[in-house]
Amino acid sequence: MTGSGAGRAAVVGAGVGGLTAAVALRQQGWAVTVLERARILEPVGAGLGIAPNALHALDAIGLGDDVRRFSAVQGQGGIRRPGGRWLVRTDLGALADRFGDPQLIALRSDLVGLLAASLADGSLRTGVTITGVDALDSDRPARVFTTDGELDADLVVAADGIHSLIRATLFPTHPGPRYSGLTAWRFVAPHTAGARSVEPSETWGRGTVFGVVPLADGRVYCYASAPAPPGVHHDDETAELKRTFGAWHDPIPGLMGTVAPGDVLHDDVYWIAEPLPAYHRGRVAILGDAAHTIRDDFPDRHRAAEHRDLAGWARRTHDDGPAAGPGSGLDTPTLGNGL
Ligand SMILES: Cc1cc2nc3c(=O)[nH]c(=O)nc-3n(C[C@H](O)[C@H](O)[C@H](O)COP(=O)(O)OP(=O)(O)OC[C@H]3O[C@@H](n4cnc5c(N)ncnc54)[C@H](O)[C@@H]3O)c2cc1C
Repeated sequence: MTGSGAGRAAVVGAGVGGLTAAVALRQQGWAVTVLERARILEPVGAGLGIAPNALHALDAIGLGDDVRRFSAVQGQGGIRRPGGRWLVRTDLGALADRFGDPQLIALRSDLVGLLAASLADGSLRTGVTITGVDALDSDRPARVFTTDGELDADLVVAADGIHSLIRATLFPTHPGPRYSGLTAWRFVAPHTAGARSVEPSETWGRGTVFGVVPLADGRVYCYASAPAPPGVHHDDETAELKRTFGAWHDPIPGLMGTVAPGDVLHDDVYWIAEPLPAYHRGRVAILGDAAHTIRDDFPDRHRAAEHRDLAGWARRTHDDGPAAGPGSGLDTPTLGNGL
């Protein structure tokens, strides 16, 4: 690695975290290779709330305005009871006054597509699984072991998600992710005549939540969560949603009625309950869900804000080298829930 930033960086994981880091590093002159185990970057995921500080990070890498173009602004909305009564009305426009930008909602696949398109040609290697990393000697390049051979790198960015192999390798005594007690569903309801009149809202039952957020194209992003034991899946997740939320206020039953079972994403929610002792080891920096997945009682809390750190960190690598990992100057991770 050189002080000019003209080193080789291997980014493990092509999620929002890894791709954002890769774009930022490329802009700082690094030769970047992104290693992703999925064979193709499929348009997975549903909606994604983009908090103002995440947007500021995207501005720092020159992509903020592209994101604004395909996103909807979350304006007035609020919190409701299952019968429909509003508990509180909120105006998310106030966020813009306080933080300089509004809360946006986009399709995750649009954001991932934009980030991937901003990489250098040939720098994304899909269908490659990382099987190990040797990071502990800062006098020589790190070595990444993959199903497609070995790779030396001056900097390794571990963005391999909540069940990170690299985290477990670097911090073998860390207990890893903990189940939150909640299971979550997400889907995008197709465009319907009434969709434009849907107000953004989150409805709170007893430990259960259902959120509806209109997207820019007229479709509606829906998310829900409920207490459940881990690992329980249903043959028909739509039926399970209707069983839990079918008697709730309009437009919830109608929105659930438009979605095919195969289009509902269902995940148990895990989090990193015990903070890591550091976000780097040797030449490896760890970020995103791999580093600090927060507990998300209501799944639409906005965590991509760490990418604000990423942009600043990418700038710092220019002078400091890989030891200055994301969060290295911070006592605690800065996340979107600071809103
Ligand atoms: C229900 C729900 C709703 C959410 N809503 C929001 C929201 O509205 N706004 C928001 O900001 N955040 C939201 N989040 C959180 C957000 O989705 C995550 O924080 C974010 O996607 C994490 O990105 P990441 O890049 O760190 O990890 P990931 O997106 O998990 O990416 C990790 C990548 O690494 C790859 N990988 C893993 N292991 C290997 C390996 N060994 N070799 C090669 N590749 C590997 C994976 O295939 C994957 O592509 C939500 C989360 C949940 C569960």
